[in-house]
Amino acid sequence: MSTSQLDAVGVVGAGTMGNGIAHVFALATIDVFLVDAVPEALERARGSIEKNLSRQLSKGRIDAADARAALDRVRTGTDLKTLAAARMVVEAVPESRELKHEIFAQLDEICEPDAILASNTSSISITEIAGSVSRPERCIGMHFMNPVPVMQLVEVIRGLETDDETTQATLDACKRVGKTPVEVNDYPGFVSNRILMPMINEAVCCLMEGVAEVEAIDQVMKLGMNHPMGPLALADLIGLDTCLFIMQVLHRDLGDSKYRPCPLLAKYVAAGRLGRKSGRGFYDYRDA
Ligand code: NAD
Repeated sequence: MSTSQLDAVGVVGAGTMGNGIAHVFALATIDVFLVDAVPEALERARGSIEKNLSRQLSKGRIDAADARAALDRVRTGTDLKTLAAARMVVEAVPESRELKHEIFAQLDEICEPDAILASNTSSISITEIAGSVSRPERCIGMHFMNPVPVMQLVEVIRGLETDDETTQATLDACKRVGKTPVEVNDYPGFVSNRILMPMINEAVCCLMEGVAEVEAIDQVMKLGMNHPMGPLALADLIGLDTCLFIMQVLHRDLGDSKYRPCPLLAKYVAAGRLGRKSGRGFYDYRDA
């Protein structure tokens, strides 16, 4: 499939990542069907896309006609069957093995046999996800970074059975939406989260052990290591539940105690303090 044939994509999950993925495809003049199990999530996603397009417009990156046309290209709904015409579907539901297996098995039934089924998973094996479909050669990891409209990278992960055509079409799709794809192998956490997530986990351990307060930990990493954002603010942006899921995958699949999720991270998630998306994480966003 050449990128000129990529006229319609599906995105499953309209949360932190799904709305950004829909945004960049729509801006690249591709029709998007955005599906979520929760109608309110779809309303929030449309609001986020509109807000982020306005931001790009005010910075002069796009013009008003592009912004309007992009928003018009995003159709939303709760039924996965609307994805039947999509040439490619990007799954962005929460980081749960069981859920991803379930969604892929359903997509396999609904989509054309040659449609590409991509996962935005942060850490789960693509080979394993592809095990739930009859077309493992058309499955691939397409790991966008948060916030999607801003970040340049897409980590592209081939599963054991992914074929060359699927890989090439995915690399082309990344370029068509203005991103830079980097191919990596299928291994827990791939490259990005194998390196990033233990650092965030360690920052939470520093907080738990009283080494420093939240702001001080972030200041050290910003001013001392030149990170644009401190690890705890970044965890809030990513979502603490997503961070915990990823640490659990690293811990289980690599079998090394150095990946043990910090108990304070688990405690925050249990309390519903998930970061920006719930209004409170390590920082408070409720008045923002
Ligand atoms: P999120 O919790 O913000 O959004 C997930 C969405 O999926 C929610 O709107 C939820 O209603 C929906 N959903 C749940 N079950 C569903 C179902 N059965 N059918 C349809 N929709 C369903 O999660 P997120 O942060 O957007 O993460 C999505 C994926 O992207 C995860 O695999 C995550 O690891 C990965 N990822 C996240 C980040 C990040 O910074 N948050 C970055 C890269 C990749």
